[in-house]
Amino acid sequence: MKDLPIGVLCAVFAIAAITMRCAGGPLENSSSLQLSLRSGLLDVLWSYPAQEEQSTTFMVDDWAGVPDFNENISGVLATGEDGEAFHVEHPESHSWVVHHDGKPFNLSYQVTSPKDSFIGKGRTGAYQPTLIKQRALLWGHSFVLYPTSDTLFDLPVRTSISSSEYANPQASWDLNEPQPMNDVINGLLAAGDYRTIVKKIMNTPVTILASGSNWRFTDEEFVSTVGKILQLQADSMGFYPAPRLMIALMEGNDSHTGGSVGRHAMFIYPNPKNQLEDEELSTLRLISHENFHVWNGQHLHPSADHGEGYYNWFHEGVTDYVANWTLYKAGLMSDEGFVRWANNVLQEYQTSPIAFTATADDLAEHYWASSDHQRLPYVKGAAAALLIDLRMREETDGEFGLIHFVKSLAVESSPNGYQRSDLSDGLAKLSGKDWRAFLDQYVWGAEALPFERLFDKFGVSHERKSTPKFDLGYTAEGSPISGQVVHVSPDSSADKAGLHVGDQILGGSIRFGDPARKVSLMIDRDGDRHTLEYFPSVDADLINILPSKGTVQSFRRLK
Ligand SMILES: [Zn+2]
Repeated sequence: MKDLPIGVLCAVFAIAAITMRCAGGPLENSSSLQLSLRSGLLDVLWSYPAQEEQSTTFMVDDWAGVPDFNENISGVLATGEDGEAFHVEHPESHSWVVHHDGKPFNLSYQVTSPKDSFIGKGRTGAYQPTLIKQRALLWGHSFVLYPTSDTLFDLPVRTSISSSEYANPQASWDLNEPQPMNDVINGLLAAGDYRTIVKKIMNTPVTILASGSNWRFTDEEFVSTVGKILQLQADSMGFYPAPRLMIALMEGNDSHTGGSVGRHAMFIYPNPKNQLEDEELSTLRLISHENFHVWNGQHLHPSADHGEGYYNWFHEGVTDYVANWTLYKAGLMSDEGFVRWANNVLQEYQTSPIAFTATADDLAEHYWASSDHQRLPYVKGAAAALLIDLRMREETDGEFGLIHFVKSLAVESSPNGYQRSDLSDGLAKLSGKDWRAFLDQYVWGAEALPFERLFDKFGVSHERKSTPKFDLGYTAEGSPISGQVVHVSPDSSADKAGLHVGDQILGGSIRFGDPARKVSLMIDRDGDRHTLEYFPSVDADLINILPSKGTVQSFRRLK
């Protein structure tokens, strides 16, 4: 069954190749891209060769939750070889249609930045083009108008970069040879006052672009620690999955930190107030997590057989487990630190309002609709990964663990991505045991992960402890800060604060998930206004790992 579409594809491709040759005249086999950086502005000029079609649609897509990259793009013009203007339509916000009559043409436009600092405003500001005074940093997603026709999209791109105001312009894709359009779209363009350090990991050049002056560590400390993490992951996986990597280090702030990975490119923006090796290790976790995603791109990505979110327990949760395991194995995280991390994961999993009802199908279906659905896979996947790692070590007498499973999956899974059966088969192959029931119940299904049973089996000490858990205590029609109250749980903190069924909520503030932050609600009851405040907390019995000798022994076997 699977061979058929490939055969058909080859036949179509052969016909297309013949048609192209019959069209007459030598056809160019690349497009060219000229990027010129000025202060606060990027000039883009694409040159495309002659082609069969008479007009071409160009697009810029949403990415990383940013819906409006198109708003930074202006002055879209198309001209022929002799300078004649071609008509450009702009039918929708994200698309432009160039009527070139099949002739070679140039497409030019300008890209500006909507912000004056790297973080900018809002959650997704970091992903918008950075064209500030000192430096530029742009993901291809934010400035590439890509052709939707395969003929033009499949042409390799020859790039040149110039800059009149910023020093040292560079890109994450190769500028010496034409490169796939996808590498440009998923790549980083950078210029300005970066401190550039090149380090080799498994013969792969890693270019680190460090910016900012508020760090509590030196560039040398940063590069050396990052090098340790990258090297350990490459050694564990047996290979480094990219011919090169560019890492841009930018300053985040108290409310915005994060990172992202593209093709041969990564940016991270930790909070500069954090030490590199402080108790939380948040900066190192970020790097370790993002670097492990470098494998996800080509070697460890899910198949498209289910909706986005279905495999996120693996894509994000197992990645997060491996990220923290890396720090533990590298000696950057202590035994106590690993226990503390595991307890944070266990706690967040056990207090998620959907942990014991949302199956993988539900997570895929509601992925974009709720932050609970986006968040759960990280902790459910990391907690499941801990149990899988413990169980594998037990079943193979310490020989194989989760990392060996992930490695074999990266080497063996099809270019179309892994599927459910690849995961259970991979586990079975290494451990000699059947894993289907475990995955069906706890991973694809929504049964509570069997911590107590497995911890007992593997010598991990634990206790049940009364712990405050986030609980709003009421349900409102529509949003919890604008609807009418339809249910108040008896004896909940909302009940004790005096909230009634029928109250109309006019506004307020809620820090979801945090039982230690007061909820403040403005309500209307029979025409009178009241303000209510309470801690959205209920005591829950949560399983907690104890850092006993047995636990430490058992966890050290995972390294
Ligand atoms: Zn991630």
